[in-house]
Amino acid sequence: MAEIIDGKKIAAQVKEEVRTEVEKLKAAGMKPGLAVVLVGNNPASRVYVSNKEKDCAECGFASYEYALPEETTEEELLELVRKLNDDSTVNGILVQLPLPKQICEQTILHAISPAKDVDAFHPENVGRIMIGDYQFLPCTPAGVIEMLDAMNIDINGKHCVVIGRSNIVGKPMGMLLLHRNGTVTICHSRTKDLAEQTRQADILVAAVGKAGFVTKDMVKPGAVVIDVGMNRNEAGKLVGDVCYDEVAEIASAITPVPGGVGPMTRAILMRNTLTAAKNQLKTK
Ligand code: NAP
Repeated sequence: MAEIIDGKKIAAQVKEEVRTEVEKLKAAGMKPGLAVVLVGNNPASRVYVSNKEKDCAECGFASYEYALPEETTEEELLELVRKLNDDSTVNGILVQLPLPKQICEQTILHAISPAKDVDAFHPENVGRIMIGDYQFLPCTPAGVIEMLDAMNIDINGKHCVVIGRSNIVGKPMGMLLLHRNGTVTICHSRTKDLAEQTRQADILVAAVGKAGFVTKDMVKPGAVVIDVGMNRNEAGKLVGDVCYDEVAEIASAITPVPGGVGPMTRAILMRNTLTAAKNQLKTK
């Protein structure tokens, strides 16, 4: 049976480290803070934003919430982003996605100051990740690496297969594994004979967005399986991309959903906010 990778526990350790550092900044007279912008009434986004506020409180950050109505225009949102870019009490800015259809997400994400871009979605930060000279790492892929490290799972020389090539998860995940000397294969919906690819994996990362997508026959016995997926099944329960019970029988280690990658994503956001605050302190 696979060892369960306890994302909640590892995330709590990361947040504790952040909290200690935030205390030091506060003792030096700084009040580090994160602005979270929510546009519209998406219930899932509402939950994500309130979780981020809880994490901020836990780590000692000030959190500034901006809840804008569904009909907000792109120009109105841009105006708020510019204001937050110029606000020295705000160290990190996060605009919760998805945005209502009248607003171009790219335009907004590109308007956030790269120094406050704690999601690491700005092209400057994306490019920096590519060349390995970064300030922020995208929260979910960085959370996965942190988990592997916490479990002493060596990436060096391992065959890592990522299913999914989104800008938020799959592509940066592949890049971070490559930076750690993994041999990386990124699969997607056009990949021919996907199971043939996934069965090669020493470390398999599923970021597809389809409940129960990865079955036992797609996994090499002894592989480490990381489930990024967050899906609702027919009963409304939160489930991952991996058929957990059957894959856990043959994997050497596996992340559960919930309690795996999700809490890590939140913890890395806190660490990125700390990094932003420290960097801004240095440049003052
Ligand atoms: P996305 O943008 O929809 O990307 C999904 C990827 O899966 C795409 O690259 C797609 O390929 C690929 N895919 C879809 N069907 C496939 C198939 N049949 N065979 C192989 N590949 C296939 O999703 P995302 O934003 O990356 O998120 C993925 C999942 O992770 C979602 O469940 C999301 O909720 C979850 N997530 C979790 C966290 C967390 O903190 N735990 C954070 C972010 C996302 P194409 O590119 O060819 O279409």
